[in-house]
Amino acid sequence: MCGITGYTGRSVALPFIMQGLEKLEYRGYDSAGVTLVDKSDLFTCKVSGRLDNLKAKLDEEAHQQTCGIGHTRWATHGVPSQLNSHPHTNSSGTISLVHNGIIENYLSLKQELLNKGYVFQSETDTEIIVHLLDDVYYHETGDMLQALLKVVNRLKGSFALCIVSKEFPDQIYVAKKESPMILGKNETGTFCASDAPALLAYGDQILPLKDKEVAILSPDDIRVFNFKGEEMKQEWIAAPYNIQAAQKGGYDSFMLKEIHEQPRAIRETLRGRIINDEIEINELNELDLDWKKTERIYFVACGTAYHAGISAAKELEKLTDVPVYAIPASEFRYGDPYLNGRCLCIFISQSGETADTIAAIKLAKQKQASTVGVVNVLGSSLTRLSDVCLYTCAGPEISVASTKAYTTQIVLLSCLIIKIAEKINGYKPDIQLIIDFKELPELVEKVLKHESQVKELSGLFKDKKDAYFIGRQHDYPVALEGSLKLKEVSYVHADAYYAGELKHGPIALIEDGTIVIALATQEKVAAKTISNIQETLARGSKVILITTESIEVDGFEYVIRLKEISRCLMPVQIIVLLQLLAYYVAVIKGCDIDKPRNLAKSVTVE
Ligand code: GLU
Repeated sequence: MCGITGYTGRSVALPFIMQGLEKLEYRGYDSAGVTLVDKSDLFTCKVSGRLDNLKAKLDEEAHQQTCGIGHTRWATHGVPSQLNSHPHTNSSGTISLVHNGIIENYLSLKQELLNKGYVFQSETDTEIIVHLLDDVYYHETGDMLQALLKVVNRLKGSFALCIVSKEFPDQIYVAKKESPMILGKNETGTFCASDAPALLAYGDQILPLKDKEVAILSPDDIRVFNFKGEEMKQEWIAAPYNIQAAQKGGYDSFMLKEIHEQPRAIRETLRGRIINDEIEINELNELDLDWKKTERIYFVACGTAYHAGISAAKELEKLTDVPVYAIPASEFRYGDPYLNGRCLCIFISQSGETADTIAAIKLAKQKQASTVGVVNVLGSSLTRLSDVCLYTCAGPEISVASTKAYTTQIVLLSCLIIKIAEKINGYKPDIQLIIDFKELPELVEKVLKHESQVKELSGLFKDKKDAYFIGRQHDYPVALEGSLKLKEVSYVHADAYYAGELKHGPIALIEDGTIVIALATQEKVAAKTISNIQETLARGSKVILITTESIEVDGFEYVIRLKEISRCLMPVQIIVLLQLLAYYVAVIKGCDIDKPRNLAKSVTVE
């Protein structure tokens, strides 16, 4: 995780670095730091805690250097503290670097450096890199590019690195492997950052570095090399969105803004996907897969995207005879999944940089499976690794708790599974589904009108520490996602259960006043779910029921009714209510909604 920024040019570097870190703070906020360079010295300032602490400590006006790097950390090795925060500097104070990722072989490298007499200040894995670089640069190569190439080829794990030195005061050396790094340039200089929002105010073209590339940023020029030292062609692309899209736009938080952006995000995602009442995903024709002989289909993802994958898998298994699985990427990669050239694997990730998902797709490719990426961030690693990439057009999602990425994933995956079924067995969807796709953005607008009702319901959580989400069949993965949202932003302990499973254990937890959020939108099993709800009511629970207009329910105190639509799209309507609920509970609890504790967006570590 973590956010990195760097600038070298003719303007003062600190404003770029600080505005970029602000935009990237969603990636990590345990500590923050900068190094600024001039010919005579490196100036480093780092603090534990939020970026505001760094701003308070730095006299921004006083620093006129035109080259520098910054970092906001999400600790993996060593507690969040000033000593562990980045940048890390070599003992003679001539080289300074920031790092995003994990160095897996840091212990053996550290031992090697300790044996050579190097002294360590921090508990991080990162610090070994700066000493290793010092060793290779000063004792072997005397050339930073050659030194960096030697070092990156010795590191195992993931890293995005930015390095400055007083030996080359107007240059930044950058390296990338499995952690994101984007470069930019304008008339004043060149710059880099972990994610596009940090660059948007400075230019509209970006160069996402590829895996195993290093770059040298100079005021007028960027050069890119692979890890073998060969100079690479640069593929610049238009920035994926504009500056307004990456700001709060009058909302109290990014999460609330992004919840409200869902009608538009869904509309964008569906653009070009429904033509003459037919779903179009022509990209699938590019796959080298004998569809009729497909042996298995996997949906692989993490967190919220995994929940979208479960919903899609449940739908697809109803449409074909092919076995379909949804597996968390962290399990898939180590689980020896059955894979061969007749398997189709669908990888879902908002950022396209999720470390476990990236490792999982590499495994699938190694075993010759066909791969499809469902990704929100243009130019991200998953877009390059997948045989075919489908974009959710949600726009930038800044809130750590994912909202519009999930709903657009559900929408795009719903299109995708229909096309997969069509390819396998000629399946044709009912026209009602096409109508529902077209009406979905307006339906979500209607669901958003329940905001004040949901806000009121959040009052039920005032003194509560627990909540249980229940649902059957296709409601269940949405219950999982609703419970995840609540814990992520409000820290209320929440679990999701199949409604029928309650009496096999979890009902022991229900006592007077326990909150149960029940989803009963599946006509076929609604009556069964409602019986399960009654069982909790009999034990004193307070139930919030989400159901449809046509399902018969009686005597419930808190009920929200949604329009009944095609089953695969129902999660979109339900989750909007549950997102709002999580949001307003977090408001009541006084939580920092866009920066929940211990979390970060874009999980680029395993
Ligand atoms: N592994 C490094 C650390 O713990 C970098 C973490 C990050 O990506 O922020 O300091």
